[in-house]
Amino acid sequence: MGYDIERFVGYVNEGLLCSICRDVLEDPLQAPCEHAFCTTCIHGWLVHHSNCPEDRQALDASVLHPLYRYMKNDLNRLQLHCKNREHGCDMVCSLESIDRHERECEYSQISCSNAGCPVQVERRNLEGHLALCEYRSRECPNGCGYTILSAEDTQHNCVAELRTELELLRSEMICRVEEAKHEMESRLDSQRRHMVQKESMLQNEIEELKRCRNHVNSNTTIIRTGVV
Ligand SMILES: [Zn+2]
Ligand SMILES: [Zn+2]
Ligand SMILES: [Zn+2]
Ligand SMILES: [Zn+2]
Ligand SMILES: [Zn+2]
Repeated sequence: MGYDIERFVGYVNEGLLCSICRDVLEDPLQAPCEHAFCTTCIHGWLVHHSNCPEDRQALDASVLHPLYRYMKNDLNRLQLHCKNREHGCDMVCSLESIDRHERECEYSQISCSNAGCPVQVERRNLEGHLALCEYRSRECPNGCGYTILSAEDTQHNCVAELRTELELLRSEMICRVEEAKHEMESRLDSQRRHMVQKESMLQNEIEELKRCRNHVNSNTTIIRTGVV
């Protein structure tokens, strides 16, 4: 949809109007027959038609092109009122810079910047709202370290807050100690198993050595006996 022609100051050339919405071209595209339309208007039209709405010549979306430069310049130079005129903004500027103005316009509706606050205010009233906003927060004046939302200001109780936090810390600590204990136990367990293995290996080696010694001893006895 185009820009409401009522917002424009002075004469607007017929050629800068969209033949579909009859408003001033917004984000325009031009057909080979030179008729121009807002992008959304002509795309909407071509869903059910395959011709130019002005002269009925065959038309396909693929042949639409950007506006001729001289027309684009004329369009950009048109002067119009800010969309917030009825809210009090008396800004008039060129079509080319109206978007930039409206993004920063003091009369534009914006959301409160406090997280969770659903309030919408005009930009110029934001500061006043922020001073009263129920979602504004501040550090507890009693020094408990808690950030209090304005809405829960009266219910804030430092002792209760600190107790909850303490409980949380306590259970966290218990958890961590348990974890450390488990880890130590399993480490000791594996060391114990390792030692037992090592011991039985050593035991086997000793047995083996004993057997060898006995064998050598008995051989020596035989040799000695032979000599004697
Ligand atoms: Zn249009
Ligand atoms: Zn045409
Ligand atoms: Zn404005
Ligand atoms: Zn707010
Ligand atoms: Zn407190």
